Amino acid sequence: MIIVLKPNLSKKQEAAVLKEIRKRGYHPHVMRGVARTVVGAIGDELTHKSLETLATVFPHEIESVLPIQKRYKLVSREAHPTDSTVKVRNHLIGGKKFHVMAGPCSVESEKQLMTTAVAVKEAGATILRGGAFKPRTSPYEFQGLGEKGLKLLAKARKETGLPVITELLSETQAEMVAEYTDIIQIGARNAQNFQLLIAAAKTGKPILLKRGLSMKVEEWLLAGEYVLAHENPNLMFCERGIRTFETYTRNTLDLTTIPIIKKESHCPIVIDPSQAAGRADLVASMCKGAVAMGADALLIEVHPNPAEALSDVAQQVSLEMFAKLMQELRPLIVAAGREYQTKEVA
Ligand code: PEP
Ligand code: MN
Repeated sequence: MIIVLKPNLSKKQEAAVLKEIRKRGYHPHVMRGVARTVVGAIGDELTHKSLETLATVFPHEIESVLPIQKRYKLVSREAHPTDSTVKVRNHLIGGKKFHVMAGPCSVESEKQLMTTAVAVKEAGATILRGGAFKPRTSPYEFQGLGEKGLKLLAKARKETGLPVITELLSETQAEMVAEYTDIIQIGARNAQNFQLLIAAAKTGKPILLKRGLSMKVEEWLLAGEYVLAHENPNLMFCERGIRTFETYTRNTLDLTTIPIIKKESHCPIVIDPSQAAGRADLVASMCKGAVAMGADALLIEVHPNPAEALSDVAQQVSLEMFAKLMQELRPLIVAAGREYQTKEVA
């Protein structure tokens, strides 16, 4: 159930409503928007007392009580009519400013990471990406540098000031990865690993949830629901292409998810053209399409020497290609009503 509160309630009035919700056996999630505050009441309506009578009990405090028919609740637009923003150090993702997260597929060495970090920052990226724990299809392929990679990411952040994003592969490493990173990436292969999602949510770090290779949008939204249901409101969805019959590209980038996620959810939507295309030559066009369609951010793989990369050789763009792409994106970002350079939160 969604309980829409009347504007300008005193703390005491709000507390009385929350107390009654708890008394009826539900867990209240308070979401404060600019214009109004709504409360998502989580609980099973079959086994608990109904909340429908709540508005008659609190006529001065409650505007309306709405049932949510959809299976996802906290990620839904109904629960939070305005766009939510995710604070990452001094950045807000999902706000006016358009963000570009860029960096290598895998952290390979200090030199490789630092060269990339400095170059992507110079070109206008706001967040540094880099995999330390890599989910590789074959056990014989490079698995990532592990904690050493996390340490290098932390070093790159210190030197450039760029916040970092890296993937979490295992529940047992959630706390360790959270110690180093600013955003936890949950990869496509783990998008429905619910225990991993819960462990990631519990760290309190912002979560970027990739869409699974064959995941329906509803399943993706429900996977995101796990994060919010575990008291972590800082969720971003990331479309990275789904598996289809097509072989010209590694995956098929589903850009329709931008308006769909915007309609169904308040959480930011990020587009990863790199895993989608699997080809560096297509990355720029896909980025442009994503900006035009209203994405909040991009996640792009960039490598100083793509041909010698230890993972995803074909899809990483060079430093030069990235700098050119960023120049080309600027007018499109502005045309889409976004900004690429603004002062952010302190
Ligand atoms: C990646 O970002 O390098 C990655 C492995 O992504 P995905 O989980 O989308 O395949
Ligand atoms: Mn990759």
